Amino acid sequence: MVRVARVAPGSIAADLMIAPGTELHSVSGRPVDDFLDWEFLTADDAFEVEATLPHGESVVFDIERSEGDSLGIELEPPTVRRCANRCEFCFVEGLPKGLRKPLYIRDDDYRLSFAYGNFATLSNLKQRDIDRILEYRLSPLYVSVHATPWEARKVLLNNPRVPNVIEQLRMLATGGIQFHCQMVIVPGLNDGDVLEQSCRDLWNLNEAVRSVALVPVGLTQFSHLYTGRSMDAAAAAALLDVAERWGERARGERDATWIFGSDELYLLAGRELPPAEFYGDFEQVENGVGAVASLRSRVRDGLSRLARLDGKRIGVVTGPSMAPLMPPLIAQIADATGAVFEVIEATNSLFGSTTTAAGLLVGADILRALTSRSDLDLALIPAETINESGLFLDDMTLEAVRAASTVPIEPSYDFVDVIGAAESFPEVVESR
Ligand code: SF4
Repeated sequence: MVRVARVAPGSIAADLMIAPGTELHSVSGRPVDDFLDWEFLTADDAFEVEATLPHGESVVFDIERSEGDSLGIELEPPTVRRCANRCEFCFVEGLPKGLRKPLYIRDDDYRLSFAYGNFATLSNLKQRDIDRILEYRLSPLYVSVHATPWEARKVLLNNPRVPNVIEQLRMLATGGIQFHCQMVIVPGLNDGDVLEQSCRDLWNLNEAVRSVALVPVGLTQFSHLYTGRSMDAAAAAALLDVAERWGERARGERDATWIFGSDELYLLAGRELPPAEFYGDFEQVENGVGAVASLRSRVRDGLSRLARLDGKRIGVVTGPSMAPLMPPLIAQIADATGAVFEVIEATNSLFGSTTTAAGLLVGADILRALTSRSDLDLALIPAETINESGLFLDDMTLEAVRAASTVPIEPSYDFVDVIGAAESFPEVVESR
């Protein structure tokens, strides 16, 4: 059963008097267990829905709709499938205590992998899940492979009961499912021969594996389970060598790079990041693969849209890993707008100074970085630091941070998104 959270006004559901709280039990005789069943079973033009209205009345709706007409039903969020592994490098295990509860949920859910691109290990799949993946053709899936040799993967996931991932992928591939894979690399565990074998196994799945990302193990000062080595420049360079060798083969034989090192590996190794063309459709950009190249190209493409802001002073708050990459980018925006930009590097007070990613800065870090900066007309902060409810990881709200700051603050993904709409910031425009 799934429950209705919201009904769009004027929609088919509203016409049928379906209200928030209505329980949806089955579609055309097939039980509805979650949003996947609902989405796929209601994809037809005509179907029957067995439901219980909020006041307890059982009803059967006969629904017919024209192609493209939305039912107008938003379901309550699904219960997330929890992870049964205990990876030493798990990001959740590296969180400090005292944050809001949802941040500690270790999800490992193939449904969210399909719907939102969350990575899943597939280690908790039951036969019914496999049947659904194949029946609903849930493709592509985002899979945390880490290593294909079975014993190595058991160690990495810290779970002796994980299934053999290459057999799982092969079986799903036979049913037409494709994958974007990631390997979080722990030096000494899944680099070297294990990585080589993993690349070979994934390559041999042919077009079923659309991309592979190599990501360095990410640790914070709270990663209490981790007993391994951290990633250094030499280890990062060795991984990039592997990615570049396989990537060259892939470009030659398959006309696409196929395997990528994450941006962080390039930064750690001190190597130049590849240009945007290298990343094709940026299929793993959310995983930090090509994020800088994507940012560079979005800035380049947005320059012609920017308003003049001559003489304005704009601060760009970022983390230590991105700060050195900023000057050439913001110089282009400064040229196009006449504004004076300044990179403001903020350190992470929640995870510690070894955590350098801009997206993990918290509200308190932003405020500290902007203390006594009333000389600025505007401060841009990384939009990734805030969730859809406007909360930073330290539970401060964007509104609270704005209220406590002497500088107008705008979250921004790529600078041009905000600067291109500068007319909407009267504080900046009025005094022009
Ligand atoms: S698979 Fe590993 S890293 Fe992912 S949530 Fe589970 S324990 Fe954490």
